[in-house]
Amino acid sequence: MLNSEIEYIPESKLKALQLERLKWSIRHAFDNVPFYKKKFEEAGFHPDQFKDFDDMKRIPFLTKQDMRDNYPYGLFAAPLNKIVRVHASSGTTGNATVVGYTENDVNVFSDLVARSLSSFGVTGDDIIQIAYGYGLFTGGLGLHYGAEKLGALTVPMSGGNTPRQLMFIKDFGVTAFCATPSYALNIADHIEKNMPDFKMESTKLRTGIFGAEPWSEEMRSEIEKRLKISAYDIYGLSELIGPGVSYECRNKNGLHLAEDHFYAEIIDPDSCEILPEGEKGEIVYTSLTKEACPVIRYRSRDITKLFHDGCSCGRTLVKMDRVTGRSDDMLIIRGVNVFPSQIEAVLMGFEGIEPYYQIIVDRKGSLDDIEVMVEVNEKLFSDEIKVMNNLSKSISDRFKSTLGISAKLTLVEPQSIPRSEGKSVRVIDKRKI
Ligand SMILES: [Zn+2]
Repeated sequence: MLNSEIEYIPESKLKALQLERLKWSIRHAFDNVPFYKKKFEEAGFHPDQFKDFDDMKRIPFLTKQDMRDNYPYGLFAAPLNKIVRVHASSGTTGNATVVGYTENDVNVFSDLVARSLSSFGVTGDDIIQIAYGYGLFTGGLGLHYGAEKLGALTVPMSGGNTPRQLMFIKDFGVTAFCATPSYALNIADHIEKNMPDFKMESTKLRTGIFGAEPWSEEMRSEIEKRLKISAYDIYGLSELIGPGVSYECRNKNGLHLAEDHFYAEIIDPDSCEILPEGEKGEIVYTSLTKEACPVIRYRSRDITKLFHDGCSCGRTLVKMDRVTGRSDDMLIIRGVNVFPSQIEAVLMGFEGIEPYYQIIVDRKGSLDDIEVMVEVNEKLFSDEIKVMNNLSKSISDRFKSTLGISAKLTLVEPQSIPRSEGKSVRVIDKRKI
C-alpha cells in the first residue's frame, strides 16, 4: 500500500526524520550490542558526538565478516524473548549470517514489501503466487507477509515443480508472480519445450516480481517477451531486513529506496571515501528503525549509484540504480574488472542466444583465461557451421569492445548447461580451486 506521507515526503522533512532516527539507531546499537560499543570506542567515536549527517564518516563500517564472526546472536540488540523470528543467509563460506526480528521489525518488513508491491501496481485484488523459497531465506516469508498485508490472495508455492507452478497460475487465476529472474526463464523454457499448447495469454498473469539475484535490462526484456508480463525489480538484503529495501515504480528507471527505514551512502570501495550523489560506488546502509539487529554503516558490496530524477510517479525518495554486480562477484581478469552481468548483457544482445551461460575462469601459466559457454537455440544450432562461426566472432568482438577483454566463446547446443530451480551458478572460477 502506498504510504503517501512517506513516499511523497518533502526533502527537508525527510532529512529531519532521518537525522532523528539515525541518532536513535546509533545510540541503540551502542547501548545494547557490546560489539558496536567496542568497535565505536576503538574508533574514538561516541554517539554523543553524532550531531549531523556529516558525522557519519566518524563511525566505523560493519562488514559481512563482522556479521559472521558474531554468529549466531552476537549482534542482537534485544533479548531473545523479544525476538519473534530469525532468518539466515546461506553462507557459502564460513558461518551463516543470522538476523533477528522483533514483532515490530516483522511489521516494518511486511509494510515495506506491501509498499513495493503497490509500487508495481499490485493491489489487494491481486492473486499472488510466491515461488521464492520459503525458509531461512528472507524472500519467501518476506513476500508472503507483504502480500497478505496488502490483502492479496497469497499462494505460497515456494520454488520448484514448474508444471505445478503453471497449473496453479492458470487454475487459480494468478495475476502476479514472484521468483528469481533465472527461475522465470526456466519457466519460459519449460513452456516452450514441454507445453507448446500452454499460452501465457490465456492466463491472467500480468505482473512479475523478481529479485534475490542481479539481473540485467536485457534479461528483463527476455522475461517480459516470453512470459507476456511486466517485470519489476525488488531489492533487499537479509542483513538489512530482506526484500523491500528498494523497489521500482511503473517507470522502471531505478529503484526508490525506503529512506524512512534505511540511510544510504555511496563510498569508493577502495579508499572508503563518501562519494557525491550520482557517482557509482559501493552502497553502505544504516538501519533507522530496526530493533533486533541494527546495522550501522554496513558495507553491502553492492555497486550502484543514488540519484533524484523528479520521478513522474511522484515519489520523492532517492533512487538507486539496479544493482548489476556485487563487488564480491566481480572477476578480475588480467587486471580488468568484469561483472557477470556485463557478460550477460552482451550475450542477450544477440539473436539466437539462449539466456543460459556459464563463465569459466582459469589460469594458464601466469595468464588468466576466460571462457564463456552459451547455449544457442535449436534453429541456430542446426544451421551451417559458417553461421555459428560468424555469430561466435561477432560476440567475441563485442566482448572485446565493451568489456575490454578477449574471451573464448563456445556455443553449445540447447539444454546442455545445467539448470537450477533457484539461483544459478554462473561463474566457475578455477583459479580459486
Ligand atoms: Zn518513481
